[in-house]
Amino acid sequence: RPAFDARAVRRDFPILSELVNGRPLIWLDNAATTQKPRAVIDRLVEFYSRENSNIHRAAHELAARATDAYEGARRTVARFVGAGSAEEIVFVRGTTEAINLVAKAWGPRNIGAGDEIVLSHLEHHANIVPWQMLAEQTGAVIKVIPVDDDGELLLDRYTSLLSDRTKLVAVTQMSNALGTVVPVEKVIEIGHRAGARVLVDAAQSVPHLPVDVRALDADFLVFSGHKLFGPTGIGVLYGKREVLEDMPPWEGGGNMITDVTFEKSSYQPPPGRFEAGTGNIADAVGLAAAIDYVERIGLPNIGAYEHTLVEHATEGLRGVPGLRLVGTAPHKASIVSFVLDGHEPSEVGTALNEEGIAVRSGHHCAQPILRRYGLEATVRPSFAFYNTHEEVDALVAAVHRLADGRGRRRR
Ligand code: PMP
Repeated sequence: RPAFDARAVRRDFPILSELVNGRPLIWLDNAATTQKPRAVIDRLVEFYSRENSNIHRAAHELAARATDAYEGARRTVARFVGAGSAEEIVFVRGTTEAINLVAKAWGPRNIGAGDEIVLSHLEHHANIVPWQMLAEQTGAVIKVIPVDDDGELLLDRYTSLLSDRTKLVAVTQMSNALGTVVPVEKVIEIGHRAGARVLVDAAQSVPHLPVDVRALDADFLVFSGHKLFGPTGIGVLYGKREVLEDMPPWEGGGNMITDVTFEKSSYQPPPGRFEAGTGNIADAVGLAAAIDYVERIGLPNIGAYEHTLVEHATEGLRGVPGLRLVGTAPHKASIVSFVLDGHEPSEVGTALNEEGIAVRSGHHCAQPILRRYGLEATVRPSFAFYNTHEEVDALVAAVHRLADGRGRRRR
């Protein structure tokens, strides 16, 4: 095991000292949302205590502080994803809003009747429904890249799906239901060869692996702050400069204009054009604090350590009678999905909760991929760098007892 001191980093997360049902909380629902380090909580308190103001407009000291903090956060995000400039970073509410923004602003101008949008079978509903709405509106057609039984994309099938009508490929970099890591670099290269733009849903990947939009040559890349140890209600749309410049606004209001008369308005260049109204200033600043925190630990260290957790969990769960792992791709990260004979996933979730263990059970907003395996729901433990091997042991032991028909263990 690589030397990684999970016990030390745990002390940065106040909530990890909570008791649940009389047991120390074991937070294994990181794919739904992550817990927040003291550095992020303190940064929010600091902002509201010393910097709070609306931004850009007023010529007073606090407006300057708030504007500096917000625009500084944009630069932090730009550096984090390897963007060429902070102007390529649009702050939004989250991944869902980012994808809807692209579908509504970029979509109608670039996609017409008979054009094709290619998605993968792994997608979260957030990367399906906005494209269906766009297809309904424009007469475009949606095509789906299939996966194999392990949950890996079939890249040769992908290549044969593409045509000169393909205008957009939208794929996840990591499946939230199975944990599959998708080779998006290849997906992008193949998509570009067909003349399509490519959007990467990095909601699940950015907390686990380094992402570089320029190395990937992604046209759009989107993620949510709350899955990256930052606040809820803040997320990121990265768009290539020339692509954003060619997009009309999607919402109108203050901040996004350069001039307004009753006859006509003119718009800011990106990213201001896409940020109508008062944004989520404090949480953008909180997200930057989360990124600074993650970068101090280092994503390569995080990825290597989490790999040991996933291996450990996979090995342990394989030994449980009647347990079926769903999603067994060789390249996966931080998520394990399973079903247990004779027990509904929701029942497993409830039993684990009694022991203080938080996992998600359900369809994970990814019904198509679960149905690919004949399922409506799974149990989904998901890991972060603050989880320990002892917590994995507790999970495996609890599932074991349930499978054996034994109840809650006394401890
Ligand atoms: N895409 C993926 C892969 C996700 O895991 C999620 C969150 N579960 C989303 C999109 C949606 O993110 P949000 O709810 O933060 O907008």
